[in-house]
Amino acid sequence: MGKIIAIANQKGGVAKTTTAVNVGASLALMGQPVLLVDIDPQGNATSGLGIDKNQLERCVYDVLINDIAASEVIIPTGIRNLDVLPSTIQLAGAEVEMVSLLAREQILKRALSPLKEKYQYIIIDCPPSLGLLTLNALAAADSLLIPIQCEFYALEGVGQLMNTVQLVQKHLNQNLEIEGVLLTMFDARLNLSIQVVDEVKKVFGNKVFKNIIPRNVRLSEAPSHGIPVVIYDPKSKGSEAYQELAKEVMGID
Ligand code: ADP
Ligand code: MG
Repeated sequence: MGKIIAIANQKGGVAKTTTAVNVGASLALMGQPVLLVDIDPQGNATSGLGIDKNQLERCVYDVLINDIAASEVIIPTGIRNLDVLPSTIQLAGAEVEMVSLLAREQILKRALSPLKEKYQYIIIDCPPSLGLLTLNALAAADSLLIPIQCEFYALEGVGQLMNTVQLVQKHLNQNLEIEGVLLTMFDARLNLSIQVVDEVKKVFGNKVFKNIIPRNVRLSEAPSHGIPVVIYDPKSKGSEAYQELAKEVMGID
């Protein structure tokens, strides 16, 4: 049975999408069938995989609101073993519309459960908020991966995220585990980066992934070409870090 991993942190710009796309692609390159679920109305994971959002007739909005089967909305990416349940800006209205629906926090879980047979990993790229979309991801997930940027105020808001996790464990999904805390955009030349690593390790201990993602310009270039960095420039530092992280996620490091 496949594993569902939500990638969440209500802070924007911490590398949720970069991590979702590149861990997803790395797992796919290792032969694992992967589904990337984009539930951010910005649709950055969708476009980062080379999909033209304007050409889409349906997106994850139709799955959440119109009761369309996810299998009818999923599309292949050009990468073997990697499919995507895409998002478009239409999703921006979903949170308001979901409020009146029955079991509104469990809609994504129900939609994804038939897919756990087909995909070894289902990775959910969350929006930068703790709203109903992120709650749906946490209710559906087996585990949560938290990216933290090696920057000022790195841990700001993380306490609130952990409180939300506890509430989800209590009321919606008692099986939710912490997959790990991922340090991103690390710059070895900066004392600040090193301090953040220490601080995060003090708080999260062995939940911090061994692999740390360095700041690497190839990672920021790849999305504009619509390909994950692990394919755009496989030998770059950023690519290698994400490939190693994918092994750590698989437990084969
Ligand atoms: P989020 O999804 O959390 O908002 P993104 O993954 O979109 O964050 O990343 C924010 C920005 O930082 C993007 O422009 C992305 O290309 C860039 N970025 C992410 N990780 C790195 C990195 N390790 N090095 C350099 N740029 C990065
Ligand atoms: Mg994002």
